[in-house]
Amino acid sequence: MIPFSPPRMDQKIIDEVIATLKSGWITTGPKVKKFESALTNYGGHKDTLCVSSGSAGLELMLRWFGVKEGDEVILPAYTYTATANVVVHCGARPVFADIEDDFNISVKGIEKAITNRTKVIMPVDLGGFPCDYDEINHLVNRKEILEKFNPGSEEQKKLGRILILADAAHSIGAVYKNKKTGCLTDITVYSFHAVKNLTTAEGGAVCLNLPEQFNNSTIQQYLKVKSLHGQTKDAFSKAQIGGWRYDIIEPGYKFNMTDIQASMGLVELERYDSDMLVRRKEIFDIYSKAFERYNWAQIPVYETQFKKSSFHAYLLRIKAVSEEERDIIIQKIYERGVSVNVHFIPLPMMTYYKSLGYKMEDFPQTYNNYSHEISLPVYYDLSDDNLNQVIDAVVRSVGEVKR
Ligand SMILES: *Cc1c(COP(=O)(O)O)cnc(C)c1O
Repeated sequence: MIPFSPPRMDQKIIDEVIATLKSGWITTGPKVKKFESALTNYGGHKDTLCVSSGSAGLELMLRWFGVKEGDEVILPAYTYTATANVVVHCGARPVFADIEDDFNISVKGIEKAITNRTKVIMPVDLGGFPCDYDEINHLVNRKEILEKFNPGSEEQKKLGRILILADAAHSIGAVYKNKKTGCLTDITVYSFHAVKNLTTAEGGAVCLNLPEQFNNSTIQQYLKVKSLHGQTKDAFSKAQIGGWRYDIIEPGYKFNMTDIQASMGLVELERYDSDMLVRRKEIFDIYSKAFERYNWAQIPVYETQFKKSSFHAYLLRIKAVSEEERDIIIQKIYERGVSVNVHFIPLPMMTYYKSLGYKMEDFPQTYNNYSHEISLPVYYDLSDDNLNQVIDAVVRSVGEVKR
């Protein structure tokens, strides 16, 4: 069976993890600090906080901004449930917007969804392809949108407008107008979950890039405390001579990253652009070249004049099939020894989100993309032979369903 997306775990990572295990310090400490600076350099944003997961990073930032009951947060109907669940955790209402043909949130859809309760917009760079950040950043600064904004916390007053919190779980290293995700908007959150491009098994990072009325490094220091029980000293500082006394300034969270995770991340980040992204792009190009000749294939867009994907998920679409036919094709691909996936089952189709009153009919483009989509395996160790097997399995399976 060709797996869908196993992590790249080679000797270099194993050696680093073992070195950390033997170093005498395994939880949050010097390696996390080093990884944070490396990520700040990489993304080009102002400061970084490493956390235990992408979800934790998103929730931490909603909490930091004071999002609570009665507030609304706009996000695409087409995303993983993490993006919406964290909004629910804060007591606020997730408001779904439809997507565009490229799988990313529609800026027109965002505009229609904005009310005087909107506090945050969460664009998701689906599959690694950056959203329309110039348009989104511009939208929240428009006069009539600014006038609708009702600040409910100190941070909201200080920003004076809707916050953009980008879910870049798929898109570390993606480029928009010569800049990387991380510095494209106010706050960006990466995920380092095991299936993501850059993995620390579980983990995430908050990239701070707030405008000039905020001191991003002061906020980073505060968030470090907020992500560790509101405790004024982390375990590493407490372990230093005379460092035992600490205070609790608020009932914070347990969202910290460990040095074991950071040591994996450091190895991967160093070779990410020169090695990981190069191979992932090759895989995307091989798929596109193979499927282009079939008129049933809709090839995903992953490079344009202004945008370059991080090549996270290859979102192939099969034209003119029903959802049921797409599901049969997936079954046939599996039977040929290839794991595929669908990114994602839209949130309005999920029992919980249905119970909030969402209906799939209200998101036609989301349903359209979803019902034709099959995500193909993409991972560093996928060989050219494996790729040919995947292509062959897809072509034969589609051929059996679409005659
Ligand atoms: C994986 C993922 C997340 C959450 O990341 P975790 O690190 O697993 O918490 C958030 N959003 C999207 C779109 C994802 O795919």
